Amino acid sequence: MTQTTQAVVVGGGQAGLAAGYHLRRLGVDFVILDAQIQAGGAWQHAWDSLHLFSPAAYSSLPGRLMPIQTGETYPDARHVVGYLTDYERCYNLPVHRPVRVEGVHRDGRLLCVETNAGTWRAEAVVSATGTWWRPFVPAVPGRSDFRGRQLHTVEYRSPRDFAGQRVIVVGGGNSGAQIAADLVYDTELTWVTQRPPRFLADDIDGRALFDAATARRRALDEGRPDTGGVASLGDIVAVPPVRDARDAGLLKASPMFVRIEREGVVWADGTRTPADAVIWCTGSRPALSHLAPMGLRGPRGHIATVGTRSVEEPRLHLLGYGDWTGPASATLIGVGRPAREAAREISALVSARTGLRHFGSSHVAPSLNALRPAVTHAP
Ligand code: FAD
Repeated sequence: MTQTTQAVVVGGGQAGLAAGYHLRRLGVDFVILDAQIQAGGAWQHAWDSLHLFSPAAYSSLPGRLMPIQTGETYPDARHVVGYLTDYERCYNLPVHRPVRVEGVHRDGRLLCVETNAGTWRAEAVVSATGTWWRPFVPAVPGRSDFRGRQLHTVEYRSPRDFAGQRVIVVGGGNSGAQIAADLVYDTELTWVTQRPPRFLADDIDGRALFDAATARRRALDEGRPDTGGVASLGDIVAVPPVRDARDAGLLKASPMFVRIEREGVVWADGTRTPADAVIWCTGSRPALSHLAPMGLRGPRGHIATVGTRSVEEPRLHLLGYGDWTGPASATLIGVGRPAREAAREISALVSARTGLRHFGSSHVAPSLNALRPAVTHAP
C-alpha cells in the first residue's frame, strides 16, 4: 500500500503534535506516524514518581494550555500523557499508530517513508522521534562481568523493585539525581557522578531554564557573546524530592568508579562496593536510524541543520532533539516555536510546488476546535 501526502511527521510525541498543529493551521496535508500504541510519546514510559520541572502553565504546547493538576505544582508524567492525548484529539490530528518508520529515502521529487504498515510518499518529512528510544550507556571496563541487574533510566519504574537492595545510580544529571532521591529511603544507595553534582538554585525551575535558552539563542543570533545558556546555571533542577533528600544529607555523590566486576564496583583507591543493581542514568541519543538511508549524519552523529531544516536535504526537518534543532526544542514549552518555523518552511515548499498561495502567519487559521476527533489506527 502506497499513499501520497504533502508532509509526513515521524513520531507522535509532543514534538510531532506541535508540528501537526502548525501544519494544520497552514493548510498542509499531512499524517503523523507514531510507533507507540497510545498517545503520550516517551512520557507514558516514565518512572512512577517523575514530575515536570515546570508548572503546568509553563509546559504547554501551542494553542492549548496544560490544565493544572489538582494538588501538584509540578504535574506528573501521567498528567502529561492525559494532556497530549487530549491535545491530539482536540485538534483532530491525523495520527496513525502503531506505525514504525523503518527508513526514509529520496525518491525523485518526493521523499519515500517506508513503514511496517505501508509506504507514504511526501514532499517533506519532519523527524520528531525523540531520544528515549536510544539509551546510552558508557563503556566501563568489566561491565559485562557484573552478575547483578543493570538497567538504564528508561527501564526504571519504582523503588519497590529494589527494596532492601544495594543499588548504584550512575549520573549527575536530572534523571540521576531524581532516581537517586527516589531510591534513597528504601535501598542501600550509592550515587556516582563524573564531577561533583551541580544543583541549580532552589528557586530555579523550567521557567528560568527556558528563559536562559532563549536568551542564549537571541545573543548568538544577534552576534553578541555566548551567555552560556542553561548549562551555565547548573545540571540538576532542585525539584522538591531532590531538594528534600539533599537537605536531609542523604544525597551525597561519589566520584566515578574505575571498574565493574562480578559482585560490584572498584574505586580508584582499590576499595570495592558490592551491588545488586547498577542503574545507568547516562542519557540518550537522538533516535535517527530511520534517516540512515539518506546518509546525512555528521561526525558527532548529528545532522547539520539551519533552524530545523537539514542543510543537505531541505525537504527534511528535525524537531525536538535538543538545542541543536532550536532553543529548548526538547521541552514542552520550547518546541512550539521551532515547530512553527518548520511548518512555515514546509508550507512554502509545498505552495511553491503546487502554485498555491502560501498561508503565512497572517492567514486566518481554520477553526481547529470545530474539527472532529480523528485518531486513526494503522490497518
Ligand atoms: P518522544 O516523547 O520520545 O516522542 C517521540 C515519538 O516518536 C514516540 O512516540 C516514539 O515512539 C516515536 N518514534 C520513535 N521512533 C519512531 C519511528 N522510527 N517511527 C515512528 N515513530 C517513532 N521537558 C519539559 O518540558 N519539562 C520537563 O519537566 C521535562 N522533564 C524530563 C524528564 C526526563 C527524565 C526526560 C528524559 C525528559 C524530560 N523533558 C522535559 C524533555 C522532553 O519534554 C521529553 O523528553 C519529551 O518526551 C520529548 O518529546 P518528543 O516528542 O521530542 O519525543
